[in-house]
Amino acid sequence: MKVKTRFAPSPTGNLHIGSIRTALYSWLFAKHYNGEFVLRIEDTDLKRSASISIDSILNGLKWLGLDWDEGPYFQSKRLNRYKEVINGMLETGDAYICICSSEKVEETRIKQMSKGCKPRYLGTCRNLKLKNLFNQDYVVRFKNPLFGKVKFKDKIRGEITFNNEELDDLIIQRSNGIPTYNFCVVIDDLDMNITHVIRGEDHINNTPRQINILKSLGAKIPIYAHLSMILDEKGQKISKRKNAMNIIQYRENGFLPEALLNYVIRLGWSYGNKEIFDISEMKELFNLKCVSRSSSIINVKKLLWLNKYYINHLPLQYVSDLLKNYMKKENINIQNGPNLESLVKLFRNRYHTLKEITESCRYFYEEFNDFSQKAAEKYLIIENRSILEEFYKKIKNLSIWNHLDISQIINNLSLDMNLNTKKINMILRTAVTGDMNSPSISDIIYLINREKTLLRIQKAINYIKKISFKN
Ligand code: GLU
Repeated sequence: MKVKTRFAPSPTGNLHIGSIRTALYSWLFAKHYNGEFVLRIEDTDLKRSASISIDSILNGLKWLGLDWDEGPYFQSKRLNRYKEVINGMLETGDAYICICSSEKVEETRIKQMSKGCKPRYLGTCRNLKLKNLFNQDYVVRFKNPLFGKVKFKDKIRGEITFNNEELDDLIIQRSNGIPTYNFCVVIDDLDMNITHVIRGEDHINNTPRQINILKSLGAKIPIYAHLSMILDEKGQKISKRKNAMNIIQYRENGFLPEALLNYVIRLGWSYGNKEIFDISEMKELFNLKCVSRSSSIINVKKLLWLNKYYINHLPLQYVSDLLKNYMKKENINIQNGPNLESLVKLFRNRYHTLKEITESCRYFYEEFNDFSQKAAEKYLIIENRSILEEFYKKIKNLSIWNHLDISQIINNLSLDMNLNTKKINMILRTAVTGDMNSPSISDIIYLINREKTLLRIQKAINYIKKISFKN
């Protein structure tokens, strides 16, 4: 039997880290067994479904490389199929028409609750065999068995049992003719030959209802696996309508897809003490046995650590291409500065995200307006003017622009002027980058190029002249 899993989000909010984990586990499970992965958009709740959420789902999955073998299916396009099954169930008596008004049902519900009972539909229309109602509002209900138990073996939680007495005669078609969530899921899982349903634990209570409908249709019951919650750093459940960040925002913040997937797989799954998993290892090693039953907690520090790891370990060309796209989005014209591979080589072990690298590298591509005040106060001072002037001359006369000679010039300056190299580096750093942080200054100057370096040194000298004039 071919393994077939699905990811079935409702487009009622952004695709967030919790949904991505469900998608990733379902995808990996299918890949592990050479099976297939289906994408299904559950958009029958027309009021709450939004095309912007559909875009968020599709873009997020594409960014992470979680490709689907079938779909995307849209439930809103399958309404005829649901109607056909509901008509069949009305005929066999597995479903029935109910004309109880929603007010009346609600009134009963409130009464039951005030007596401390679990609210449920009383079954008033269950045996009336109502038919062909043209002028009256009605819903269709599933005839849930009255007695007995529904049992299923959850792949993560073990055996779970529900008493049929606790389950209602579920509405499967609303009065507006649209089928309900629980019904559509069942028909889709059946029609799409889904063998394993991997989803959030908030669906555990739906499972016995779905199993009963499947049984009434004589269908094979899929295997279920319910994943525990993901909590935010404050310990609150993340929810797509409240506190969850759109997955694409991670890309905007400079995270790599490899890092995010590695981070997400470890939110509730482990393989000994191993922390780093590339995609092929994930496919090879993932299983449901090692998925935890307890909730997982978001840990941004760990994600940053993983991102730095991948920035440093993925091929230089690949990281440079990602950085190129990132810089383009930040409106940096990369034609104005050094080759990105040299830049990545120099910067990658200092930063955690492409965003940080981009922010720290702007001065290669754009002129900065002002020196940082702190740096200027410390290094662009009268006594340092001659150092800058000497450096300017030497750099100007350098016959071939190369990294070694720049570093040699700095060393000679330090000897000739009897100054600590560190101090010279800081003065030059302030002059050419505008601030006090950067990798090796000779590397930086080499990459900035001669023309720009000279301009900036001159700008720093002018700055010192201006302050000496004021004093
Ligand atoms: N559409 C449901 C949701 O977004 C998931 C349904 C399922 O996986 O069965 O929560």
